[in-house]
Amino acid sequence: MNKEDKSAEGRQHVALPLKYRPMTFDDVVGQEHVVRTLKHAIESGRIANAYLFVGPRGIGKTTTSRIFAKALNCLTPNGAEPCGKCENCTQIAEGRSLDVMELDGASHNKVEDVRPIIEAVQFKPVASRFKIFIIDECHMLSTAAWNALLKTLEEPPPYVKFVFATTEGDKVLATIVSRCQRFDLRRIQTNQIVDRLTYICGKENVTADSDALLAIARGAEGGMRDALSSLDQLIAFKDGNITEEDALSVFGLVSRSELEGLAGAILKGDSASILKAVANFDSAGKNMRRLAGELMVHFRNLVVWQALGEKAGDTLEITSDQRKTLVEQAKICDSSRIFRIADKLAEMEDKLRYVLSVRTLIEMTLLRAGRIASVASIEELMKAVRALKASGGLPPSAPAVQPSAPAKSASPVAKPAAAPAPQPSAGTTATAEAKPETPSFDRQAILDDPRLNNILQSMPGTKIIDIKEK
Ligand SMILES: [Zn+2]
Repeated sequence: MNKEDKSAEGRQHVALPLKYRPMTFDDVVGQEHVVRTLKHAIESGRIANAYLFVGPRGIGKTTTSRIFAKALNCLTPNGAEPCGKCENCTQIAEGRSLDVMELDGASHNKVEDVRPIIEAVQFKPVASRFKIFIIDECHMLSTAAWNALLKTLEEPPPYVKFVFATTEGDKVLATIVSRCQRFDLRRIQTNQIVDRLTYICGKENVTADSDALLAIARGAEGGMRDALSSLDQLIAFKDGNITEEDALSVFGLVSRSELEGLAGAILKGDSASILKAVANFDSAGKNMRRLAGELMVHFRNLVVWQALGEKAGDTLEITSDQRKTLVEQAKICDSSRIFRIADKLAEMEDKLRYVLSVRTLIEMTLLRAGRIASVASIEELMKAVRALKASGGLPPSAPAVQPSAPAKSASPVAKPAAAPAPQPSAGTTATAEAKPETPSFDRQAILDDPRLNNILQSMPGTKIIDIKEK
């Protein structure tokens, strides 16, 4: 990596994705599970005949394939890592190795295109241990092309290895997949992209706000190549410090603080602020669908934080600034309410695909979410009743939610032995005290909660009564 950095210096501009392309397995970001297995295969000498790398674009499938090819054919490897300097490594890096063939399946998908591979398989490698065929976007190969390859794939000579890469694993024929060792490469975590961008900015002597790098990473949606291209673009666009605003303008994203502010308004049930924020984003031409998606992720993070706290670790893909807000906001609302808000947002994501007015749907959903945040859920109510019972504040047989059922059984006709005299006044006041003012819970919230619905339906004679809005 260092060697490449220096050699690029002083020459004409080299695009960042190219300049900082990983050269060793350890350089590959965010695909630890794949890298570990490949390195182990090389170290133990147990190398499969064919590999299939599946994953979205720009996350390192081709890069990993090339590193793997180098590692297999390197003359002076460093453990499982290629040296990057020997004749074989340099030839592979420059695309002129006679023993490593790359084919773009998207543009070369016919039988004629794979025929050279079938012919080349018959000859031993020229100057390496293995003859390696890398086929990118392999799901585009025609069935006829696959059929031509199939026989070779079934029984390849020991010196032949195949590496297939694709964005659409489901479109690859099952007969092919079953002959490959399959790896699913992941979208790279936002905070991992931010770390890499920070490192590169340091190397390039570029200053950028941490929120600016976060915005670039958010915009790249897990793709390192896209993140580096955007950084490149922003460096070209602006001398000096790159700000969050610069980065946001490229992607139409809402700033971190605005997004978190909107989440805060929802958690406080502040309808006016919710409406104002949505109107501002809409008139500023922000990408409303992305806003909805990012809000959803934020509430998901809140749920995870409330459940696990510091133990959440890597499951929260957040920067230290985001963490601070999360810690604060997690205190505002009970987790059962946040769960229900997250459910509402998930429903909205589904509907967003079909709806005409995105803004109206978002407004309605967020107002509804704000209401959920400000009204106690039945779960909280039950918890409170249980706590009250445990502390002796409520008679153990007292009805928790529905007072109408006992009223019937207490009919005077059914109990002729009852004293005709009116109940002592002390008793009456006691009952009145045990039944404090009705807690304000939301009828719709009860109907929305499947668990509660079940409980209520299993209690004969119960009905949900309307309570005046507070
Ligand atoms: Zn080498």
